[in-house]
Amino acid sequence: DDLVTERRFKKPLDFTKIEIARLPTVMIVGRPNVGKSALFNRLIRRREALVYNTPDDHVTRDVREGLAKLGDLRFRVLDSAGLEAEASSGSILHRTAGMTANVLARSQCAIFLTDGRAGLHVLDLEVGKWLRKHAPQIKPIVVMNKCESLFDASDSIAAAASEMWRLGFGDPIAISAETGLGMPDLCQSLRPVLEDYMLQVLNDEGARDDSFSEDSNSPQGNENKLPLQLAIVGRPNVGKSTLLNTLLQEDRVLVGPEAGLTRDSIRTQFEFQGRTIYLVDTAGWLQRTKQEKGPASLSIVQSRKSLLRAHIIALVLDAEEIARDKRSMKHAEVVIARQAVEEGRGLVVIVNKMDLLRGKNKSLSYEKVLEAVPQEIQTVIPQVTGIPVVFISALEGRGRTAVLRQIIDTYEKWCLRLPTARLNRWLRKVMSRHSWKDQAAQPKVKYFTQVKARPPTFVAFVRGKTHLSDTEIRFLTRSLKEDFDLGGIPIRIMQRSVS
Ligand code: GDP
Ligand code: GDP
Repeated sequence: DDLVTERRFKKPLDFTKIEIARLPTVMIVGRPNVGKSALFNRLIRRREALVYNTPDDHVTRDVREGLAKLGDLRFRVLDSAGLEAEASSGSILHRTAGMTANVLARSQCAIFLTDGRAGLHVLDLEVGKWLRKHAPQIKPIVVMNKCESLFDASDSIAAAASEMWRLGFGDPIAISAETGLGMPDLCQSLRPVLEDYMLQVLNDEGARDDSFSEDSNSPQGNENKLPLQLAIVGRPNVGKSTLLNTLLQEDRVLVGPEAGLTRDSIRTQFEFQGRTIYLVDTAGWLQRTKQEKGPASLSIVQSRKSLLRAHIIALVLDAEEIARDKRSMKHAEVVIARQAVEEGRGLVVIVNKMDLLRGKNKSLSYEKVLEAVPQEIQTVIPQVTGIPVVFISALEGRGRTAVLRQIIDTYEKWCLRLPTARLNRWLRKVMSRHSWKDQAAQPKVKYFTQVKARPPTFVAFVRGKTHLSDTEIRFLTRSLKEDFDLGGIPIRIMQRSVS
């Protein structure tokens, strides 16, 4: 509590230092044509993105997401499709409205955009009603757009504001998304909401660390509720799109609306067992793989950038090709897997199209593939033992639960935090377990502590000038993995000397 108070009053939170995945989410809602896209584009600083002038074409739009920069505030911003309360069921409007509610439920704040020049519109009242019904936990900030000409005459802003009061969400803010007027005011009114959220997240994380039970041996005890960022990677035609459809099920989000929109910032998000999973760069590869189906396109699909944005990388392989070539991974796939591990991401390998091996007389049978793939992965990526492998048939829609469980399990291990006391009890046991060749050279690890999660990173404090050899580091790494069930996680051990 003290910590929170201190943070709040001493200095404003530095949003620029917060990981994108943990930033709060703000959704822009409002009737069509008030300037939601214009505001979205201004916030994400992509002025070249398209702004539509046609009130009727909003039916094809879907939710866009981007990283917003507003003064020193950073947040994720969602641009919703037009909300239409009277949308007939079954229409695309209805579907996008449902989706909007879904996304709104995961936002921490809403910018309720209106048109200050046109004044209060009957549809604004509908949107307000809709918000109260579907997102009662959110107190929207009413923003009047298109006010550039009203700024000269403060009376007209006051007049427009008094109309907007009828929405029942308090004082509106006047801005002009097109000229940027009023943006500092928007920043000022968003800050307390976003800071409250961030402090709560930081506080929760602290509480989780403290409350970690000494006896709990399971990473699940350290459950991390932050959205998991997942990248599905693989060569063209291995079945990524098919898998994606299986993963999203009915909760699917329409991807890639019109050319020219900020495609890279579109992200797909879905829920599994109460957990939010973000798909990183899906739109990117969906589009690119459509364009270039060839061996050369692997490198772009797995751009380093999207790799770095993800927590967990799901590498999809094609079982039929494995059976035919008697080789689990092609060069490009090995490169990606190694890169993922080197960047400290959790890796899950998915072998798709297993249905094609059933009952067929292939050079490698179903069972052989089950056996060979994990072994071969171990050989090509010796740094990380126990990388999980899931065998599925995306086409038959099988393996969704298995894939998602494995991904979540890997993520939880990736987020694991082990208390220092427990690590040091473990260290004493491990040191006695190992038969050091040269007793005199036995390294003197004084203590051991975890300095970071995501991925778990440890520091071994070594007495004096002694250094742990690579073999010793490997031994400690292997023991950590075995004793704390961290198979498949790229854990790191650093050393520091202490007197
Ligand atoms: P949306 O349907 O809410 O996403 O609205 P758009 O962003 O597509 O904008 C609708 C129309 O309003 C477009 O013609 C924009 O150029 C215009 N517009 C957006 N913001 C402003 C503004 O600040 N001032 C003025 N005058 N026009 C704006
Ligand atoms: P992407 O290029 O990686 O996105 O691959 P797609 O999802 O477009 O799939 C490429 C082709 O493989 C399509 O013809 C799919 O129908 C097919 N496919 C995908 N998954 C499976 C599967 O599990 N079994 C079989 N037999 N075919 C599949």
